[in-house]
Amino acid sequence: MKLHLHNTLSGKKEEFVPLHDKEVGLYSCGPTVYWYQHIGNLRSYIFVDILKRVLKYDGYAVKHVMNVTDVGHLTSDADTGEDKMEKAAAQEGKKAEDIANYYLNIFKDDFHKLNISEPDIWCKATEHIQEQVEMIKILEAKGLTYKTNDGIYFDTSKIDDYGKLARLHIEDMEAGARVELGEKKNKTDFALWKFSGEKGRRLQEWGSPWGVGFPGWHIECSTMASKYLGEQFDVHTGGKEHVPVHHTNEIAQSEAAFGKKPWVKYWLHGEWLMFKDGKMSKSAGEIYTVAELEKRGFSPLAYRYFCLGAHYKKPLNFDWEALTNAQNAYDRLKNIIAEFKDDGQTNEQYLTAFADAINDDLDMPGALAILWEMLRDQRAEGKLRAVRKMEEIFGLDLLKKENVEIPAEIKKLAAERETARQSKDWAKADELRKVLEEKGFLIKDTPEGFEITKT
Ligand code: AMP
Ligand code: ZN
Repeated sequence: MKLHLHNTLSGKKEEFVPLHDKEVGLYSCGPTVYWYQHIGNLRSYIFVDILKRVLKYDGYAVKHVMNVTDVGHLTSDADTGEDKMEKAAAQEGKKAEDIANYYLNIFKDDFHKLNISEPDIWCKATEHIQEQVEMIKILEAKGLTYKTNDGIYFDTSKIDDYGKLARLHIEDMEAGARVELGEKKNKTDFALWKFSGEKGRRLQEWGSPWGVGFPGWHIECSTMASKYLGEQFDVHTGGKEHVPVHHTNEIAQSEAAFGKKPWVKYWLHGEWLMFKDGKMSKSAGEIYTVAELEKRGFSPLAYRYFCLGAHYKKPLNFDWEALTNAQNAYDRLKNIIAEFKDDGQTNEQYLTAFADAINDDLDMPGALAILWEMLRDQRAEGKLRAVRKMEEIFGLDLLKKENVEIPAEIKKLAAERETARQSKDWAKADELRKVLEEKGFLIKDTPEGFEITKT
């Protein structure tokens, strides 16, 4: 089966045909690095990781770009409220740049723990201010912008197909608009550049032809995506809340500036991780990080397994019982696979069914069901090699032998034994070996040094 993906732009599942043969340009809206990314955020990046893995499995070379929003994302997506980065910097009494780097590093650690591959290019908004100014200048030259008291705005009424991604009914929206318009001409108009206001109010600000200020959040993604992937590219991803505002505005300004339609061929949106009947979000209160899951004894890859149990376009309810079930199923899976011996064959029958599932709009629950079916099939051969191939998509370390957590006390005893051995005090070395065995650990000496395993 050929790869089919659900394209928000058409509202349908479509066969995937990239612009350039076997190369795919992929842009993902990345984190706003003012705080920890929670496991809800990370569900979105597990979805992107699966997409990348499936594209590679199908033989495509993928160039993946992800932005890091370190300026311009206001507490409301609609150009009002405070800048999230500025607010965090003021609260923590640190430089915005230090805050961004701190949270970005934790985000990257979480990627590694969850086996999410990093993008080929990380790009920070603050490192692309000039490019954003240039893009606003193009829009201005085309007569699509206007100035208000607080910034330069994009005039959405000049775009015939504005809102096509979300199928927004602009006239109804205007008629029913209760939102304070201020100096905006249309409710859907959005800021390209915002003025700083009185001097010294902001920590991050830059000069521009229109005045000192900072870029809007939407222009950041349009500018950086096209800088690295071209004026037209294949796939753009994000969370589903980005459809009506952020991605709608990215499309409007990019198609206007570059004069190419569609700016992006396929738009893919992930559904949310839910908690207690709502989207897991910082504003709703209760959120959890990967570190918190670990503290409670869960492995990050059990969380990945939990996420793969739901299609990316379906909401997924998080609770501790569901995560415990996922951890148990994941452990069982690993234990079963640990017993497999390589019989020199690859089970092609299950692999074909597996490829059909992943190519059907990344059907991970379907792919996992096929894995389980194969494991239960007493007569199936070539299981180990089939699992190895499936692992290219799952990324669950199903074939990796458990890294036993070695307590500090054991490591210390093992080191003492090694010292005894080096000084040829065989009696002491033997005695320490016995102590370790009594505590449930085996020591094996190898040319590279000693190894500790659990008995
Ligand atoms: P932010 O750092 O707030 O810009 O969010 C980063 C990404 O996480 C965005 O693509 C959001 O759509 C996504 N996201 C936020 N909350 C959730 C959630 N509860 N479930 C899935 N994705 C989420
Ligand atoms: Zn974006």
